[in-house]
Amino acid sequence: MRDLVHPADNLVRAMARIYQYRMTTTSGGNLSIRDDDGSIWITPARVDKGALDAADIVRVRPDGNVEGRHRPSSEFPFHELIYQARPDLRAIVHAHPVALVAFSICGAVPDTRLFAKARDVCGEVGFAPYALPGSRKLGEHIAGVFAEGHDCVMLENHGVVIGGADFDEAFRKFETLEFVAKTIIKARALGEVRYLSDAEVARIDQGDLEMERFDPAPATSRERELRRELCKFIRRGYHQRLLTANAGSFSARLGDDEFLISTRFTDRATIEPSQLALIRGGKCEAGPRPSRACELHRLIYQKHPDIHAIVNATPVNATAFSASAAKLDTRTIPESYIFLRDVVRFPYDAAYQNPATIAAEMTPEFPIALLDNDGALVLGTSILDAFDRLEVLESTAEAVILSRSIGEVTPMGDEVIDELIGAFLK
Ligand SMILES: [Zn+2]
Repeated sequence: MRDLVHPADNLVRAMARIYQYRMTTTSGGNLSIRDDDGSIWITPARVDKGALDAADIVRVRPDGNVEGRHRPSSEFPFHELIYQARPDLRAIVHAHPVALVAFSICGAVPDTRLFAKARDVCGEVGFAPYALPGSRKLGEHIAGVFAEGHDCVMLENHGVVIGGADFDEAFRKFETLEFVAKTIIKARALGEVRYLSDAEVARIDQGDLEMERFDPAPATSRERELRRELCKFIRRGYHQRLLTANAGSFSARLGDDEFLISTRFTDRATIEPSQLALIRGGKCEAGPRPSRACELHRLIYQKHPDIHAIVNATPVNATAFSASAAKLDTRTIPESYIFLRDVVRFPYDAAYQNPATIAAEMTPEFPIALLDNDGALVLGTSILDAFDRLEVLESTAEAVILSRSIGEVTPMGDEVIDELIGAFLK
């Protein structure tokens, strides 16, 4: 597809998003895009990152001439050297998000084998030794690691630099890596972290689904309404940090063997109704690239007529449990037990290898599952119900993780649970 967004607008939009989600500070971080003519568009030096506009972005021509009302970022040297080392890269993100900084100041690299998707998106992360910010030496250190083929590079006592074939790809890698770092930190509070082997990563095919296609009739108002509703909750899930920009799937039932599902590589922050895929009788409408969890969603809808929405998501705290052997005990507060009941657990690639088993074992009475190293699966009687449950799950998981630094959790006893079941769940 032709990219019609001006590089300066792209950089402003991305910086606003990075700042909004506290993935950089007012003074830290810089972004660039290499244009077709070799110009590098880059964020300016010493301008408030919380209030950039397109006119603040600086263009550095291939001959070194600078256009714009500011000086380019003081880190321009490493951007330039990375582009020289890697002609395939067109965009660079550099920032100091806290979880990655935590790794950086320990001289450590987050292992992206935490999730198959993260491994696929980010690859193996490199590490560049410290040098003075803005120096050519720092640029040489970083560009040297990029030259070895890494697209994600941790900087010793500094932060992270990430490159992509276009800006969306660089941003996707950046957000995924920060999410991996956060999840590892949370999972370590629960005990040993489970990483996937290379063989396990390879077992999940990251390609598009091969599905039969059909040309749908014009959409009914019911379909339009459901598309609007599902998109609203997907965007809200992103803003609430329950969904990441590209991982997971969210679907809603339209009819007996008919549902709408999120599509691959669609940004959850801005998803629009046309970016959902209609699945009917196991076939997909012509055009979109549906989530790879399609078959699982279909089997659950077939098995459970009362289920009208399904979400597979990777919010940090619930996902930390999925990467740990620790059991998520939901007998914490009444709300948690009423919404979540007892959490079911499935092996890592069950969603793709044994979807029928999951569809059989998850029921309206067991609406929540943790998938090893793949986050949570949540069923609901409506989109709102599934969303609400996902929110309660993430809050419960976070409370349990936070409680670890306070003391022993006292779970509610059997009598309390029986009383809750009698009052709310009969
Ligand atoms: Zn920096």
